[in-house]
Amino acid sequence: GAQVALRGVSRVYGAAKALDDVSVEIEPESAVALMGQSGAGKSTLLHLVGGMDLPDGGEVEIDGRSLPRRRLDAHRRRVGFVFQRFHLLPALSVLDNVLAPVLPYRVDFDRRARARELLEAVGLDGRERALPGELSGGQQQRVAIARALIGHPPLLLADEPTGNLDSATGEEIMELLGTLRRHYGMTMMIATHNPELAASCDRLIRLQDGRVVSDDRLEPSEDVL
Ligand code: ADP
Ligand code: ADP
Repeated sequence: GAQVALRGVSRVYGAAKALDDVSVEIEPESAVALMGQSGAGKSTLLHLVGGMDLPDGGEVEIDGRSLPRRRLDAHRRRVGFVFQRFHLLPALSVLDNVLAPVLPYRVDFDRRARARELLEAVGLDGRERALPGELSGGQQQRVAIARALIGHPPLLLADEPTGNLDSATGEEIMELLGTLRRHYGMTMMIATHNPELAASCDRLIRLQDGRVVSDDRLEPSEDVL
């Protein structure tokens, strides 16, 4: 079955429809690129899937069950989110930034061991004590990716993850996401203006004015996510 389904989802801001009757189903372990002009509704769609926002109409389903308001908190903990502008906490070390999402909760794994494993996986072992401001943009995004994965999320949502990086660094981040997806076997949904990042996904959904205007399977390319 679908891991994520939107069924006739709408999200309205005043007179503007950020999403207008959107229906999509996302299979487990797929890599879905969301493209479309600024304002097309990409971020809104990711926020709804991540349980950070609620639809005005229609339903979001996770693993075949509709996502009720009372389960949003639990759902959010099962989702990793990566942003364009990293949103690291500047006064916390790299290690503490990665740990931050799971600190308030009881978890059934060793948080510090997991954080160290992830920092190694993103190529930042040895930088645990650095502050975000001491790192390059690409390194900060690596920290943000490690932070997104700390809770073993089956779903990673990324909003313009390469949008604030030069193209070479963006390519490194894109390759890193592909490696992590293969290693941890999670589903990714990535809003992007970057055609290479989109082409490395296995599905491309285009939004325009809050509606899905195309939805295509992509042939696996060489550096497939
Ligand atoms: P995209 O991510 O594709 O750039 P968004 O989902 O951010 O698009 O925005 C879709 C539409 O909804 C835009 O017209 C945007 O201005 C509007 N919108 C998004 N979030 C808000 C908000 N919090 N308040 C008002 N309008 C919003
Ligand atoms: P990110 O947070 O991804 O690094 P931004 O700082 O540009 O990038 O965040 C965009 C945020 O602004 C999103 O959360 C989006 O929902 C919100 N947003 C988009 N359009 C509007 C709008 N017209 N009014 C208010 N909020 C908006």
